[in-house]
Amino acid sequence: MSGKEGRRQGVSENREFQDKVLTCADCGQEFTWGAAEQAFFKEKGFTNEPKRCKDCRDAKKVQRGDAGGKGSR
Ligand SMILES: [Zn+2]
Repeated sequence: MSGKEGRRQGVSENREFQDKVLTCADCGQEFTWGAAEQAFFKEKGFTNEPKRCKDCRDAKKVQRGDAGGKGSR
């Protein structure tokens, strides 16, 4: 209940994104690219879809010793 209905013609963020099943380029497993994550990507300005599942991305981060996160790219 948001009181007035004044903003219903604005883009509702959650409608724009739907969970999507992608295939990981690394392990070949299917993974779900959730709506929330898609919104996050968009917010960050990423225009392409993730190529890897979360596991592989995490693994890569650890491998590179990048867990702390310097935003190099
Ligand atoms: Zn993977």
